Amino acid sequence: MKGMSLTPVSPYQTGTVDLSAMSASYDIVIGDGVLNEVGALILSRLGQRRCIIITDANVAPRYGKRCEASVTAAGHTLLPTYAIKPGEGSKSFIVLQSVLDHLLKSGVDRKTIVIAMGGGVVGDLAGLAAALTLRGLDIVQVPTSLLAQVDSAVGGKTGIDTNFGKNTVGAFHQPRLVVADVSALDTLPAREMRAGYAEIVKYGLIMDADFFRWCQLNAKALLAGDRAAQIHAIGKSCAYKAKVIAADEREAGQRALLNLGHTFGHALEAAAGFGDTLLHGEAVAIGMALAFQLSAKLGLCPASDAEAVSKHLAAAGLPVTSPAILTDDINRLMAFMAQDKKAEAGKLTLVLANGIGKAFITRDVKSADVRQVWCTQ
Ligand code: NAD
Repeated sequence: MKGMSLTPVSPYQTGTVDLSAMSASYDIVIGDGVLNEVGALILSRLGQRRCIIITDANVAPRYGKRCEASVTAAGHTLLPTYAIKPGEGSKSFIVLQSVLDHLLKSGVDRKTIVIAMGGGVVGDLAGLAAALTLRGLDIVQVPTSLLAQVDSAVGGKTGIDTNFGKNTVGAFHQPRLVVADVSALDTLPAREMRAGYAEIVKYGLIMDADFFRWCQLNAKALLAGDRAAQIHAIGKSCAYKAKVIAADEREAGQRALLNLGHTFGHALEAAAGFGDTLLHGEAVAIGMALAFQLSAKLGLCPASDAEAVSKHLAAAGLPVTSPAILTDDINRLMAFMAQDKKAEAGKLTLVLANGIGKAFITRDVKSADVRQVWCTQ
């Protein structure tokens, strides 16, 4: 089976995402302090190169110098670092243009590596900029938010938001290497930490009831900064994601499982205006609770499983019902759901479950049932 297996390589864990049948194969290195090794890891896997760091203004002052020092210490040539304004608003044509301008102005060539150091916003934006520049530069993802470490840095999806919705312009561009330093999570705001945790729970809910039980036992320690729990959960999450994408890199089918909670969640994010009202991971938490409630309502999964999902997410400090202001207009939410990129021929594609760890993709849900779940939460 292609995918990713994690071998503890003291002091770091290394796993390899094997997409060689399709487009790529790359290592994910997870560890405490591994940011100091970014340059050496690039050297050992990709050789001596020119490197350019794209980051954001929250991450740059905290980790910029360390990343730059590791790159130069390994003998690479470092081009000037560029820090974008933090936040989802930067996934725009205007900021994309500014990143492209910076790359070209700095004199990148086809062998230059773009290092995306930051959360999912930096990863998605810099990934797209790398895909477009000189018809494709190598990208190394250095995720610093929990969400980016367990989800967005792996898998090769890049993109920006447009007037037509979130991530509506983008490209598949797999990284050449992913380096996730859990010590960076110490400075991540608690709310962002919880939002990233929602994506960890997601993997248990999709495909591994035992991992969900592990989450129930270890969420508190993980969120409080326990390094071993963080490394374990990030490694598991990356391995699950790698397994799914190795089977379906371009989301022709099973990769859509990773969207558990996302069709509901995207509708809420769109209704909230993609701002701070509802973070992506928070919207996913509500969406997962709703997906399980809908599954229980349709008699597909035990009601006790739906209750356990909501209870655990709430215990981890995540929202499980949407703010009333967003659900006041169900027609609007239904319209946003219909615009989802995964909708086909006007039919909603939803990820539902036969129980915890048993998610599946379906296009057979009546909109009246979806409507009712929005109403009854
Ligand atoms: P983000 O990049 O906005 O980061 C959240 C906040 O934390 C930002 O203010 C950032 O500056 C700050 N931050 C990041 N690391 C920090 C650190 N170590 N210390 C202090 N502050 C830090 O958001 P996110 O939650 O990381 O990512 C969300 C984005 O990821 C969305 O745009 C979403 O669409 C995208 N995403 C992409 C994929 C994919 O497969 N490509 C998957 C899931 C989500």
